[in-house]
Amino acid sequence: MAVQSAIVVGAGVAGLTAALSLAETGTQVTVLEQSAQMSEVGAGLQISANGARVLDKLGVLPLLTCDWLQPECVTLASGATLADLTSIPLGRAGATRWGAPYGVLHRSTLQNALLRKVDENPRISLKLATRIESPSKEALEAEAGTRANLFVGADGVWSKMRSLVEGAGEARFSGFVAWRFVIPEKDAPTFIPRNRVTAFTGPDAHVVCYPLREVGAINLVAISAGEDPGAAWSISPTEEERRAFVTRALSGWSRQLCDLLLSAPQPTWWPLFGVSDGHWTDSRDLVLIGDAAHAMLPFAAQGAVMAIEDAYDLAAMVSSIPVGAALVRYEAMRRARVAKVRARGDFNRFAYHARGPVRIARDAVFAVSPASRLAAKLDWIYGYQAGVQPA
Ligand SMILES: Cc1cc2nc3c(=O)[nH]c(=O)nc-3n(C[C@H](O)[C@H](O)[C@H](O)COP(=O)(O)OP(=O)(O)OC[C@H]3O[C@@H](n4cnc5c(N)ncnc54)[C@H](O)[C@@H]3O)c2cc1C
Repeated sequence: MAVQSAIVVGAGVAGLTAALSLAETGTQVTVLEQSAQMSEVGAGLQISANGARVLDKLGVLPLLTCDWLQPECVTLASGATLADLTSIPLGRAGATRWGAPYGVLHRSTLQNALLRKVDENPRISLKLATRIESPSKEALEAEAGTRANLFVGADGVWSKMRSLVEGAGEARFSGFVAWRFVIPEKDAPTFIPRNRVTAFTGPDAHVVCYPLREVGAINLVAISAGEDPGAAWSISPTEEERRAFVTRALSGWSRQLCDLLLSAPQPTWWPLFGVSDGHWTDSRDLVLIGDAAHAMLPFAAQGAVMAIEDAYDLAAMVSSIPVGAALVRYEAMRRARVAKVRARGDFNRFAYHARGPVRIARDAVFAVSPASRLAAKLDWIYGYQAGVQPA
């Protein structure tokens, strides 16, 4: 009963994982991607166990584990003093607990691994330099050169495919901006741990850093409130803008950390957009996945991992029941999951950016909470089994 032919728009994490997942169920897949060549995008990515489990099922994980770093833990630290506040064990303990590893890597490492598996798969055809401007199902079939009984919009936060779904959400500026830096590991100061993910926290801002082992670098992302830049995605800030950001967002922070952000080469400024609540399917044969459906802020580091789960859950659903009914069920199931993950991100934002008495209470809770209890609170996220449908 599997879908015979599918057209996927977008060859990001969502689109490539969807192509592999659908092909595994016997579907012929054509992926339409606007870029002429798949160049590396962005910087670092954390892939938690719930995403790694899917990548393993698709044969992608072995291409990553030789390159990526499995952090020993994720540590919350004070942005003012650099002192550790609490840690959640990852590494071997996490892999045992959640049944799959947690890794950090450069985005291009994941993208190249997905592309390799796509290239090897005779059921998948990838058409580059194919931008879909005004989508209709007929136009997509004409571009793909084939008829399809499933259309998948995996074209990111600025999705054009959303126009085919009545009542779909829209991209909205979140009020936050991210500053991204990659610095050679040899130039990084010693207060940046080389074996873990560290989130330095402070009032209204936080800085996440972790090593990108395969490129010998440290990935740094600073997030704070910022102004609406319009529909821009990533921008290179001037020296003056960078100084203004550090002065405003990191006032009272450790001088060492501020100096690092002031001196790091070539920062990129990413206004953070989310997608408002709305429908993801037309209940017939078209569905949005990944950021096109539900772009979220990176406070729980789950956007790409949700795209991976979406892809695998979608393929499992359309291979077991008729496509229209499958899409309705898919949307209901994934909506509940994504909403819960988004809420966890909101909680992290509240905890990371706490100030005054809230911060004092937070630190007191951290001080008495055993690491195992903190890890247990993440079981429902990292232990998720994509492709296994609830009864
Ligand atoms: C600062 C920051 C840090 C993050 N950290 C993490 C993290 O640690 N872990 C995590 O899981 N997530 C993280 N995320 C989120 C993650 O980056 C995204 O959720 C994920 O990349 C979304 O993948 P996607 O495939 O849905 O969309 P995209 O990556 O945007 O891919 C969309 C694809 O569609 C193509 N496309 C777009 N429009 C068209 C068109 N009209 N026609 C044809 N092709 C088109 C694009 O070229 C692109 O290839 C982070 C995000 C940010 C901003």
